[in-house]
Amino acid sequence: MQEADGRRRVVVVGAGWGGLSVAHKLSMDADTDVTVVDAAPRPGGLVSDSFLTPGGRRAEAGQHGFWDEYHNIFALLDSLKLPEDPLTGYAEQGQYSPQGLEAVWPVYRDQKQKLPTGLGQALYTRFLKLPLTDLASAAPLVLAFSEFDGSEEAYARYDEISFYDLCVKLGVSRRMYDEAFEPMVLTGLFAPGNQCSAAAALGMAYFFVLKHQTSFDVRWCRGNVGEKIFAPWVEQMMQRGVTFVPSTRATGFVTRGQRRAEEAAAAANNDDAAPGATAAAARADDAAIAAVRCEGCEGDGGASSTLLEADEVVFAVGAAALAAMVRGAPELSRHAEWRRYARLRGTGVLATRLYLDRRLETPYSANACWGFDRGVGMTWFDITKLHGLGDEKKGEGDGSDGSDGSDGSDGSDGSESGDGSESGDGSESEVESEAAEGSVIEVDFYHAQSLLVMSDEQIVAKAKADLDTMLGADCAAAAVLDAAVVRLPQAVNWYCPGSYADLPSLRSEAVPNAYFVGDLVKSAHGSWSQEKAYVTGIEAANAILGKPDGDGIVPLDADEPHVKLGRDAVAAARSAWPLPGKPPSFADFLF
Ligand SMILES: Cc1cc2nc3c(=O)[nH]c(=O)nc-3n(C[C@H](O)[C@H](O)[C@H](O)COP(=O)(O)OP(=O)(O)OC[C@H]3O[C@@H](n4cnc5c(N)ncnc54)[C@H](O)[C@@H]3O)c2cc1C
Repeated sequence: MQEADGRRRVVVVGAGWGGLSVAHKLSMDADTDVTVVDAAPRPGGLVSDSFLTPGGRRAEAGQHGFWDEYHNIFALLDSLKLPEDPLTGYAEQGQYSPQGLEAVWPVYRDQKQKLPTGLGQALYTRFLKLPLTDLASAAPLVLAFSEFDGSEEAYARYDEISFYDLCVKLGVSRRMYDEAFEPMVLTGLFAPGNQCSAAAALGMAYFFVLKHQTSFDVRWCRGNVGEKIFAPWVEQMMQRGVTFVPSTRATGFVTRGQRRAEEAAAAANNDDAAPGATAAAARADDAAIAAVRCEGCEGDGGASSTLLEADEVVFAVGAAALAAMVRGAPELSRHAEWRRYARLRGTGVLATRLYLDRRLETPYSANACWGFDRGVGMTWFDITKLHGLGDEKKGEGDGSDGSDGSDGSDGSDGSESGDGSESGDGSESEVESEAAEGSVIEVDFYHAQSLLVMSDEQIVAKAKADLDTMLGADCAAAAVLDAAVVRLPQAVNWYCPGSYADLPSLRSEAVPNAYFVGDLVKSAHGSWSQEKAYVTGIEAANAILGKPDGDGIVPLDADEPHVKLGRDAVAAARSAWPLPGKPPSFADFLF
């Protein structure tokens, strides 16, 4: 089913980290033609800067950090040979509640001594108010981390219970949970701990916080990721022949079986048709996808109705979009494997960016918060510092390199902008010159369904009021000149208890030429979020190209010796279980 010249045609649906990654690796293969279709006007998926403020300033779908274990994305950035490092240095981060500063995360790599993981984070993280007894109540979680090694078996055991239940049963104190763990899960998994599986929380926390003492050290982008990383990356891929089709939605599929049936029907109408051709074709029940139907997104100038012929199809979309696709495509919903994707869910995120009329002094450029809205996660960022806005005017750096410690729709595709328009140029230079006098602060909310229903004006007022609470009189005196309100209903994958069994693997079983990439795909790599989406893209490209599974992928380091010791001990105890039946798990003791 390849083109007459023997070239492989791959259609990638979705241009987030996952879709761009698979296109990147495939574009290195001289015999492969790649077409990337995305419903949004600009690439990047959840990291896209497709949004504009009423004043024409470009805004992103929230702030995105690059943590210390993002080895593959860092390798990509090196390979792109960009004119400047797009990422900031490392810097301390703050944690606020309505009562003020609650905790400071230091730059763990800068601490005098590198300690075994777990101990380093416990000793160096500065909780300003949380009593030691509450901190100590987290210790039993070590047992769960020792048993949860990221294997399929571990997922099966820990996915059925919520992270909240795990904490309660292991004796974590209420205060420790509310002030440390709940905010972490709300910002890391975008949903409250009682609605997230313990497996997802343990896997995410191990990757982001516990792999090494330095794992939680994070870098941010010196500008919008869309401008600093995706634009030059996409440009390089286009030069290698990748076709990008923006503002265009994949809406249906033609299977090879349907194609053959059509061809046979046409042949039957032809007097010269060989006897029996129709019957032979009717027997051909090939579930593989022969073509992807696409429709331009109204008003966004996308391709009108098109049929993209495909030898391989990569689904690089989030959970809610995949569920919507199955609902709308009988070619997919006939398979039990795909019907289970209809159970996948997304949760809502709200990203705001406020342009203030005066420069604010902020202690930390990246901050997490708790205690403002029950069940809603919250972070805020000093974009002025992270993007180095107004640096030229001041004639000095303000820490965007981290040197001074200050900084080192329908929801199926998950995005709606406040004004929904693409007008204005939103150029960085225009914004920079205005920001020389003022501050730009991003406030993002997670699991934010209860806020998404507010009007833009109400949302801006709420974000500003929360900032006033944390930053005090100077902030309260500042006026909002312009603001982005980016609504992302159902946009981020929701790892609710029991959801792991429904997640797709890299390759579809029922549709032989369909692959899945993105942060919802099961992967043994152990990474999460952007890094995972990027890694699964390489994994899918390897499968399509017939390369070894790990080709071009930087694996995570081995577990530190004491972690390995703990995991080996738990595994040995389980395998030596003397009674009939499965050995109990720490998760079992919870009931
Ligand atoms: C506010 C916020 C903050 C975050 N912070 C961080 C962070 O600090 N660090 C981090 O690593 N991660 C962070 N994340 C998560 C990160 O954004 C995701 O892990 C990552 O972007 C997922 O990439 P993806 O390629 O899997 O999917 P997505 O980015 O969701 O891309 C899917 C793409 O598919 C397209 N699509 C959907 N349906 C169709 C269709 N039918 N036809 C065509 N196209 C379609 C969509 O338009 C979209 O572009 C954050 C996310 C949000 C929302």
